[in-house]
Amino acid sequence: MKVGVINIALANPRGFCAGVERAIIIVEEALKKYGAPIYVRNEVVHNKYVINDLKQKGAVFVDDLHTIPSGSHIIFSAHGVSKAVRKSADKLHLIPIDATCPLVTKVHNEVNRFYEGQYHIFMIGHKGHPEVEGTMGQIEKNSPEASIHLIESIDDVEKLPNIDTDKISYVSQTTLSVDDTSIIIDALKSKFPNIKSPKNSDICYATQNRQDAVKGMLGNQDLIFVVGSNNSSNSSRLAEIAKQHNIEAILIDDMKFFDPSILKNKKNIGITAGASAPEILVQQLIVEINKYSDTVVSEIKGVEESVIFKLPII
Ligand code: SF4
Repeated sequence: MKVGVINIALANPRGFCAGVERAIIIVEEALKKYGAPIYVRNEVVHNKYVINDLKQKGAVFVDDLHTIPSGSHIIFSAHGVSKAVRKSADKLHLIPIDATCPLVTKVHNEVNRFYEGQYHIFMIGHKGHPEVEGTMGQIEKNSPEASIHLIESIDDVEKLPNIDTDKISYVSQTTLSVDDTSIIIDALKSKFPNIKSPKNSDICYATQNRQDAVKGMLGNQDLIFVVGSNNSSNSSRLAEIAKQHNIEAILIDDMKFFDPSILKNKKNIGITAGASAPEILVQQLIVEINKYSDTVVSEIKGVEESVIFKLPII
């Protein structure tokens, strides 16, 4: 028997961004053109459903390029890769197809420009995230004149030694929390008043818009579901925003883990989805909630996105 009525508010925008759509299309087009298997370095985007779907179509995800037969095509993921990875692919006679999101490439270009100008660069990001590895890997060797260093927190900024040059700059991962990053940037600016900023914020439009949409819905919700995988940075940040405002938030990417007991005493539920999560998962979640309770579903108005990125030559 169903229990009462639950109001479901859907955040907008939510789900796929232009960079993720482009990366998925690149894998699908490569499969059409060259046939299976098509090798992809790491997860092309961080979403279990998307990865399983591409695997079924013939994509093979690998961590180690040495496992790929020479002469094969290799797709670099939306998170981008280091120069060392590109060189290694070349050495192994692999044919690269680049699915790096153009907004990540923009950050790579900034890093390369700063390095050529002999700057010491601070990269704000999460250690171990593939985007951070790719961006920091634009610099192959730190030198006394130019270098790149990771900053993950205010504490890291406080621990930095004073540097005897004005040639200091920063860049950031594209999928960070806008608010947390601006606190770190303020700390960097206070320690190094002449620090050079990127021309535009490195946090991408999709991250910003999805975070703004969640902030806009917080007031009315008893619980927020973020559809997205645990390893998706931008999805995790959406859940964090809700929790920072004392609203229960659950990250979910597979409806077989949906636990209806969480809905007890909940009247208003918000749903959003990270930039790598497909809409089909949002719809599956609504179906699950509807098994427990009658639902009234409404879309919350938000920024309309019209960004489209050109495909590379495949
Ligand atoms: S989240 Fe932003 S940077 Fe990452 S793929 Fe999407 S548009 Fe590109």
